[in-house]
Formats: sequence, C-alpha cells, structure tokens
Amino acid sequence: MYCQNCGQEIDDKAVICVHCGVATGKPVPTADNTGKSWVAALLLCIFLGGFGAHRFYVGKTGSGITMLLITLLLGWVGIGIFICGVWVLVDLINICLNTFKTADGKPLQK
Ligand SMILES: [Zn+2]
Repeated sequence: MYCQNCGQEIDDKAVICVHCGVATGKPVPTADNTGKSWVAALLLCIFLGGFGAHRFYVGKTGSGITMLLITLLLGWVGIGIFICGVWVLVDLINICLNTFKTADGKPLQK
C-alpha cells in the first residue's frame, strides 16, 4: 500500500509510515493489551470477590451476576457462603497464577 501523506510505498502492515512518520490510520496491534490491570482484579477479588466484582471488572458480566446473586440470595445461608467462598478462592488462585483471563480470553496486565 502507499502512504496517504507522502505517497511512498510502505508495508501493508505498517502502522506508521517509515518515510514521513505519519500514522497510516491502521489500528495499532494490541496483542495482549487488555487495559485490565492484574492488581486491580486481585484487589477486587480479595475485597469484593463475593460480589463478583473482579468478574465484572474483566467483562465477565454473566458469571459476575451469577456470583452476586448467589451471595445476595444465598449468602445468609451457609451454603451460599461456601459456594462463593470456593469460587472466589479458585478465581483468586487463577489471578495469582496469571491464568485468569478477561471475557475475550486475554491475560491481565501486570
Ligand atoms: Zn509517508
């Protein structure tokens, strides 16, 4: 393809023209850049994990709501605390091991 600014031939995958330095308008590849912070997810899981806060944060709204409902509806019964406790613990371990992914399967940013 050709640069829209200077007309020089540039690589098809170029994000910035090597001749004039002007952006080609192609979106910058954001391979693993989710913009979701690992630390934030960890803290949310520790402090608000029972309410599914860390799941809402990474975009897993469905399971976040499920977690919230289990806590709100069953939280006053022992079983709700147990289910969410185990679930939050599993999530916490996954976050610590960095295997907890965002809704679109990307890793969190350390
Ligand atoms: Zn150019």
